[in-house]
Amino acid sequence: MLKKLTQFYYPKTVEDACSQLANAKEKTSVLAGGTSEALRNDSTIEALVDLSKIKELSFIKSDSSSISIGAATPVQDIYKSDLSGVSGELLKTAAGKIGSTLLRNAITAGGNLVALFPWSDLPAAYMVLDAEVVCRKGKPKRTVPVINLINSKPASFLTKGEIVAEIKVPVFKKGTGASFAKMSKTSNDYSLITVASRITIAGGKIEEARLAVNAITAQPVRCEEAEKLLVGKKPDAELLAEAAKKAVAGLKVRKDYRATEEYRKEVCEVMIRRSLEESIAKAGK
Ligand SMILES: Cc1cc2nc3c(=O)[nH]c(=O)nc-3n(C[C@H](O)[C@H](O)[C@H](O)COP(=O)(O)OP(=O)(O)OC[C@H]3O[C@@H](n4cnc5c(N)ncnc54)[C@H](O)[C@@H]3O)c2cc1C
Repeated sequence: MLKKLTQFYYPKTVEDACSQLANAKEKTSVLAGGTSEALRNDSTIEALVDLSKIKELSFIKSDSSSISIGAATPVQDIYKSDLSGVSGELLKTAAGKIGSTLLRNAITAGGNLVALFPWSDLPAAYMVLDAEVVCRKGKPKRTVPVINLINSKPASFLTKGEIVAEIKVPVFKKGTGASFAKMSKTSNDYSLITVASRITIAGGKIEEARLAVNAITAQPVRCEEAEKLLVGKKPDAELLAEAAKKAVAGLKVRKDYRATEEYRKEVCEVMIRRSLEESIAKAGK
């Protein structure tokens, strides 16, 4: 509960929002979909800057080289969008796996990234798509690889008065396939294991590999050792099984009451192998 909350701001522009955050005397936080911010147990926050009225933060655009999504875009809009291609389809699949329709109408593309929970679905997809994040502090902006933001924890990465404004993913060349899978007890429940992968095949060999997991870990991580093992090799069942084993061996598995460490590891290895198989099959189409 935000017990001390007394003030709401509804800026119409990014500049107004950032200036409100930068100059606030009272402890002020950003409100996007509100699905975690409203539940936060913080009795020091006195004001919220609501991003929902900022039109320049709510959009989905695509051209031949990239897809851009405004940070305040509800994830349901991504799920229901007409985005296509490897990146578009992966974003739509990941967005569609998030909770229920009601939740997806509230949760935003940026909020899902900044509130980096183990069960957050989009960040693993952003990671394998080599997404870049546009952070704005009024007019000034910096564009950073999503992995930098995730590895430094978004809340610490952003400076006072700075917000995530946009997430950009490249469009990939032919010969690329991607896959997203989530295991949860029910389709509305939090993820126990999330796996995303992207593979590019050229000349019968793996030219580029991306593999990321979440939920089994405390935050989304790239499985870089497994990626290295795959690159330059002809994809066959033995290689994929070896990569899946290597990926799981390198994970610091999160413990909670939903599933044991052994169960998560065993299932995750199978999910990774299948995800790689799916990405490779799609790359061949
Ligand atoms: C019952 C339930 C089930 C859920 N299930 C899933 C699920 O299956 N999968 C999944 O991925 N998520 C799920 N979520 C959502 C997830 O837990 C987070 O609540 C959500 O991702 C936060 O996004 P939001 O847009 O609501 O952000 P908010 O709650 O508004 O904000 C979250 C945090 O990010 C900051 N913030 C938000 N946007 C920005 C921005 N643009 N720039 C800077 N800071 C920002 C806020 O200050 C706050 O600290 C679920 C939530 C609930 C309540």
